Amino acid sequence: MRKGSIQSSWHEWLGLEPTSSDTINLDKWLKPNQWRNTGLDAPFMWGEVRTRGSLHYKVAIDKARQTHTCTCTQRDKICAHKLALVAGWADQLFTLEEQFSRPSWVEERLNTLTIEGSVLDDSKSILANKRKIPVARMQEMTNGYAFLEKWLEDQTLAGWRQILSPPADQVEEAALRLVNYRLSGPAKRLRNLSLPVAPGESQVGRLLTTLSCLYLACRSFARYDQLDLSRQEHLLQFSGITIRKDQVIANNSEVTDEWIVLAVQELKEDDLRSRQTWFFGQSSRRFALNLVYAWKKEPLPTPLTVGKLWAGSVYFYPGTDNFRIQLGEGQLGTTPFAIDVMYGTWKEVFLEHAAYKLIDPWTERLPVWIQGVRLVESSGLYFIIDLDEHGVPALMDQKLALQILSLQSTSSLCLFGLLIGSAFAPISIVMENTILQLS
Ligand SMILES: [Zn+2]
Repeated sequence: MRKGSIQSSWHEWLGLEPTSSDTINLDKWLKPNQWRNTGLDAPFMWGEVRTRGSLHYKVAIDKARQTHTCTCTQRDKICAHKLALVAGWADQLFTLEEQFSRPSWVEERLNTLTIEGSVLDDSKSILANKRKIPVARMQEMTNGYAFLEKWLEDQTLAGWRQILSPPADQVEEAALRLVNYRLSGPAKRLRNLSLPVAPGESQVGRLLTTLSCLYLACRSFARYDQLDLSRQEHLLQFSGITIRKDQVIANNSEVTDEWIVLAVQELKEDDLRSRQTWFFGQSSRRFALNLVYAWKKEPLPTPLTVGKLWAGSVYFYPGTDNFRIQLGEGQLGTTPFAIDVMYGTWKEVFLEHAAYKLIDPWTERLPVWIQGVRLVESSGLYFIIDLDEHGVPALMDQKLALQILSLQSTSSLCLFGLLIGSAFAPISIVMENTILQLS
């Protein structure tokens, strides 16, 4: 290797003189068959370098603007791949005969970098809060999503009827593979496919919703670096990447309010118990969801009382309009003076939720208030009918239906619940400014 000319190339293209520690592992990245689609067309230089397996990092440099980008975790810092790309050209590892015309991603990625840079100037918090996921974990997710995408395509071509007929072993097998790739969220969503349909639920509807959610996750993860930070966060959280409390707090999303405790639900899956507490902020008008988990005999903290106000601060998880929170300091106090419900009709609910799906397409359950509605039964199925006489299937068993019908009497209902697909699962009922959780 002609050391002197490489040093001057680094200076010319990257504007720096790397130290010997920067170049210590450089030879690892200087094998010709590791690179593809390399090109040199001043002021641009680009190439794709293979890492483990079939993953390639895309590297691009613009020497006129002295900007550079690499899809590895180092991003806009100097990484070994950028040094190796420049060294490869300086050392005639790549030749001009191999050159392809400049692919569109080169400028796209370099321009994104500029935009990110200017965002950083306006608000340092945005980039500072970008989560660093270990390279090995990202690689594991890449493999997991590649497996899932292939599997979904194969099953779709083969036909879902046979795959979904009980005991649906192939679904369980694929879910286990995803668990091995530590993609717990997608595994859970996939398993949903083989569960029996709830009263009022359509199996085809669930299949289509699940497939589009999972397929979108595969396609989005494949272009993870091009997603905006909020989308990245929602995808990471759906994938099952845990987030520490200090990272949540660092998101600068503290909201202090009087939070109405809307519902407290506990679930048990094997040895894991979880509790979901739903809140609604009286001033912020935001829904918030707190999840806590406990293993085996480990106790869950004392639950909050439904219908009371919890006055204090909460920290929202990163990702635009995320519902999930960590509880900060606060205390449980009085009952609310008046409960101001948000929606009057299903039309409003569905418009709002179509907009939310653009922000986070992986959310399975969306919280909903609805007022002025009534429950009706038709051929053994239940529907929630709004003031416009529009009905939405209610996900509930007969026991719950009878409970609601007994409270319904002559007045209309005000319900809190979750929209799941296009059906509604009521959880709590509001009656004269008190909230009662249905059971
Ligand atoms: Zn790199």
